[in-house]
Amino acid sequence: MAKLSDRITSITGGGSDGWEVFYRARRMVAAGETVTELTIGEHDVLTDETILDAMHRSAKGGHTGYAMVPGVAALRQAVADRLTKRTGVPTKPDNILITPGGQSALFSAHMAVCNPGDTALYVDPYYATYPGTIRAASAIPHAIETRSRDAFLPDPELVSETARAHKARSLLINSPNNPTGTVYPRTTLEGIAKACIDNDMWLISDEVYDTQIWQGDHLSPRALPSMVERTLMIGSFSKSHAMTGSRIGWIAAPEEVITKLIDLATSTTYGVPGYIQDAALFALQQGEPLEEKIAAPFRRRRDLMREILAEQSAVKAIPSNGAMYTMLDVRATGLSGLDFAQALLTKHKIAVMPGESFGNSAAGHVRVALTVADDKLSDSVRTLCQFAHDLSKETSCAS
Ligand code: PMP
Repeated sequence: MAKLSDRITSITGGGSDGWEVFYRARRMVAAGETVTELTIGEHDVLTDETILDAMHRSAKGGHTGYAMVPGVAALRQAVADRLTKRTGVPTKPDNILITPGGQSALFSAHMAVCNPGDTALYVDPYYATYPGTIRAASAIPHAIETRSRDAFLPDPELVSETARAHKARSLLINSPNNPTGTVYPRTTLEGIAKACIDNDMWLISDEVYDTQIWQGDHLSPRALPSMVERTLMIGSFSKSHAMTGSRIGWIAAPEEVITKLIDLATSTTYGVPGYIQDAALFALQQGEPLEEKIAAPFRRRRDLMREILAEQSAVKAIPSNGAMYTMLDVRATGLSGLDFAQALLTKHKIAVMPGESFGNSAAGHVRVALTVADDKLSDSVRTLCQFAHDLSKETSCAS
């Protein structure tokens, strides 16, 4: 076989891709075992019937041909209006590109702002695809590490120093955060904005969990002074409208950036199917009540988990203020996050994601996705805590 490109062979960085526990759980399920899967951010409710009806109506009505590459006009307008209303930043349809999901938007954003070989910063722990996405865009990913005891918030000083040292082109942040559930406070975002301005960096702000805020408010950094001209904001219908499989999201950015991103879309995806865009438009037209209905189970389960975790001391919870996850510190067991997750899966058939899947900063942690029914989640979390408790006792007896 002729040689493949360095770009494609380096996407995973040569190491583990971090998905081994997830795939092992899936293999166990395929072999007929009952496994409680608390791994990925997939809702346990399906896309709302009314959204599916809108999709069906559109397809039956003939919207099955090529759609406009930047997105259909009405959807670009609806997304722009939503951002204007939610973030206070006046946004026009020309500031919006409709993309096949947030993932495609993340890739396109890095393609737009990084030259091959440029350093692109991102915050560790991170959503598992980030470094690969940056490498796919031929840039060099560089992690900004954070600490569990700081709720995994990045230190803007460190961002600035690292940006200077590496002449970084961009910084990718994600609030509300996957995997930690942290919501960045205003002071952190202001510090990050300053670091971007001082180092002439682009900010790529992944806000796909903007409807899942359990405490405090979501502040879009695009709304901070002088940030609108250097921010590419990523949005998605996956989490806000339980439309993960429909693959639809957006980028909001200065018009000049969107013009270039349209060139990229023309030569890569050629847009998003029209009937999916019409379904997304219908979803947005339902306003906040539908978004709240979809977020409600996660809010409830996050509260439930907080209560259960408060009753024990074997694992330490990182306060989850948003998104559909809670991160647990299992270091007292003496195991790595990966070993803990593998052992929990073997012994109790409960699958959680090892913190190491999300970078060095989350080593010794596991991430629990709040994506099963309340009683099943409670039972699983209690089992996990008991398991950690028993392991910790073994560790302290042995030492
Ligand atoms: N960003 C984050 C932080 C995510 O968790 C996800 C999906 N899990 C995405 C982006 C991509 O979502 P999608 O491509 O489904 O819009």
